[in-house]
Amino acid sequence: MIVWDFHSLLVMVQICFSFLLMDKGTDMRLCKHCKKAFIASRKRNEFCSQRCKKQFTVYKSREKERKQIR
Ligand SMILES: [Zn+2]
Repeated sequence: MIVWDFHSLLVMVQICFSFLLMDKGTDMRLCKHCKKAFIASRKRNEFCSQRCKKQFTVYKSREKERKQIR
């Protein structure tokens, strides 16, 4: 049985609000680098900050270098 108390109502409001935000083009996302939740202002944003984006690119290029070494 679901107890419909104030807390669950508050959660409902928050869910509705996040849907409203999504309609405006914003989106809740997990950062590809630090796995923190953030609001993406653009749909293609995959990182919470420029710093994470840079660090992720550095790690990726290091992986590539390792694979190229025979
Ligand atoms: Zn991040």
